Amino acid sequence: MSYPAEDWIRHHTRFSPGKEALVDLASDRAFTYGELDARIDRAALYLRDGLGIERGDRVAVICHNDSDVFEIQFACRRLGAVFMPLNWRLAVAELEYICNDGGPKVLIHGLEFASQATEIQQLCAIPHLVSLNNGGASDYEAGLAAATGELREVDMDLSDTWTIMYTSGTTGRPKGARMTYQMAVFNAMHCAMTMSITEASKNIVFLPTFHTGGLNVYANPIFHTGGTNVVLREFDPVYFLALLSDKELHITHMFGVPTNFLMMAQAPGFAEADLSHIECLGIGGAAAPLALIEEFAAKNIKLQQGWGMTETGPLGLMLSPDQALAKIGSSGLPPMYVSLKICDDRDVEVPFGQDGELLIKGPTVLPGYWNRDAEHDDFFTHDGWFRTGDVARQDADGYYYIVDRTKDMYISGGENIYPAEIENVIFEMDGVLENAVIGVPDEKWGEVGRACVVLKDGSNLDEDAVISHCQDKLARFKVPKQVRIMDELPHNATGKVLKHEIPRD
Ligand code: ADP
Repeated sequence: MSYPAEDWIRHHTRFSPGKEALVDLASDRAFTYGELDARIDRAALYLRDGLGIERGDRVAVICHNDSDVFEIQFACRRLGAVFMPLNWRLAVAELEYICNDGGPKVLIHGLEFASQATEIQQLCAIPHLVSLNNGGASDYEAGLAAATGELREVDMDLSDTWTIMYTSGTTGRPKGARMTYQMAVFNAMHCAMTMSITEASKNIVFLPTFHTGGLNVYANPIFHTGGTNVVLREFDPVYFLALLSDKELHITHMFGVPTNFLMMAQAPGFAEADLSHIECLGIGGAAAPLALIEEFAAKNIKLQQGWGMTETGPLGLMLSPDQALAKIGSSGLPPMYVSLKICDDRDVEVPFGQDGELLIKGPTVLPGYWNRDAEHDDFFTHDGWFRTGDVARQDADGYYYIVDRTKDMYISGGENIYPAEIENVIFEMDGVLENAVIGVPDEKWGEVGRACVVLKDGSNLDEDAVISHCQDKLARFKVPKQVRIMDELPHNATGKVLKHEIPRD
């Protein structure tokens, strides 16, 4: 059975054209659904008539967060084209790999990325290059202004691909996740159900929109429901806290990775900040330290933990607000149409309460990766379950706990060690801002743990204090043998720690 992929913006324009849809803080622009709809039409006409974009063509975009990115995404829907957002943190050689794989027909770039875009266009022989300037003079604005004619919307099915999103590459070469309309619709429904998203909701988009966090938690679900998205170009914790506290702006929803909340908690003014009007503060994308959730809870702010991946829409687990404090540390329960199971390495379900790999099935799970059909069976079981690569466990009430990524696990003296547990213990220490535990080679044990610790300003914690704290709290074999106090940890553009980039010497 198949169903048409409805055009969400068109739908809300029919129902409530005057409703505010999109605010772009950097350029001080605001669009109602009706205005956004008209710009999307012009963007689609420009892409079609000016650049020859047709159904199935890929439209790559590289720019900082900008309301125009959403227009381009919805213009792709109207043409049946595939939206292909690019990670602007990557080096040209990495983007070359991605563009050779994805084969876009046009590369739309923020002016700030003009030189990289020109280089990539040449390296990958991309037919068109289009500049974008956050509402200012650019090829894109000129193209929209000149666009005329009728747009006959291309019929699309829920099973068609809307977006190819390259995974952030925290664990290797990026793969193009094929994200269908169906994934977006079910993810939007799940977010609305678990995060109380309505047409009155106002979400702040600050994670980069080339990642699923920025695009799909909760920006696209907000458009699906007819709410308002407020786009922030880049994350700065002090400005961000001021925006969240602004009663007139009245943000009701936000989703961040743990690093965002760690930085907010350090920002001056955090103690006095009144965030009581915010209905949902979601946290996920990486293991959330318990101490952090408790720090916010002490201010009466419930951080709702969730788990997900680019490949899973992303929402695969969510903690409801009333369980957020009762089940601290858990990523919650699957939303309505998601099925999960925890299996051993032969895909057999492990006994309840034991660790195993989390497998997922449902309408929010990708059909496959772009250009990787031959490897399909590496990613899916024979009966269609997607292998997440994450280790999880369930408690007696059925709540899920993400233990760690299988790839981050290391083996010391024959014992499997999951760094996330150790990191949580180190986070409990007062002077610790951030930390990451990695396995490093060792002659005697095969591998041993090394804790890489970034201190808060003014803290004088030393290596021995970290080790002795771990000795008090952890089994001996889990205590890291080495501690390195570092100035900073490498992060990806979303703010997740890039463990494979931490120097091993
Ligand atoms: P990447 O794997 O490149 O970071 P994604 O942005 O898709 O790409 O991230 C998905 C991964 O993030 C998951 O597989 C998981 O390892 C991690 N993750 C997401 N949410 C959580 C969570 N609540 N707790 C622990 N890890 C999480």
